Amino acid sequence: MKVWQKYSQYLLSGEWHIHTDYTDGKGSVADYCRRAAELGIPLVAFTEHIRRNPGYDFQAYLEDIDRAREQYDLFILSGCEAKVLPDGTLDVEDNVLEQVDYPIFAFHSFPQDIDVYLDAFYHVLKNPRINTWAHPGIFLKRAGLHLQEGELCLIFKALSNSEVLIELNKRYNAPPDAWIDLARGQQVNFVRGSDCHCVEDLG
Ligand SMILES: [Zn+2]
Ligand SMILES: [Zn+2]
Repeated sequence: MKVWQKYSQYLLSGEWHIHTDYTDGKGSVADYCRRAAELGIPLVAFTEHIRRNPGYDFQAYLEDIDRAREQYDLFILSGCEAKVLPDGTLDVEDNVLEQVDYPIFAFHSFPQDIDVYLDAFYHVLKNPRINTWAHPGIFLKRAGLHLQEGELCLIFKALSNSEVLIELNKRYNAPPDAWIDLARGQQVNFVRGSDCHCVEDLG
């Protein structure tokens, strides 16, 4: 069972993709929680960028989240956004994935090779900790790579079988419109993830 399944009624009303000033975002954990409470957003998931070497105090980030849970009447999930590596592993230590509620994966820098991409994609789905495919399709678009409809259907079927969500990402207008009906056809669930980098991106 994935963590998102406990909160499935909030997939579209919650905000499931937030960066803070621990990395390239502007607000603190508390700033986002305060604003979410004001706006009546019932759930926030913090998905800070992570690497095998995080470059910031990951434990302090988790402590901020614990403190916010005591202060705000919201569902507050800890999480991270991990980059897919060419061998299909994620650029994050396993113990980090185990410590957070809501790990999500994304393709950032990656080889421009559709076969390497597909192999890596299916490998990632085997990771039981992974909840969501973040900004789906953006890497492919930038790299000028395309997936055929048949390949997309297989991807969506695999997501559905693995109980991994597809993110509706306002910041990048992802996924492409054409993907949405195909994904629905395979009973994939969608989650709102706006890739917030400041509190104004909430709501
Ligand atoms: Zn990203
Ligand atoms: Zn992000």
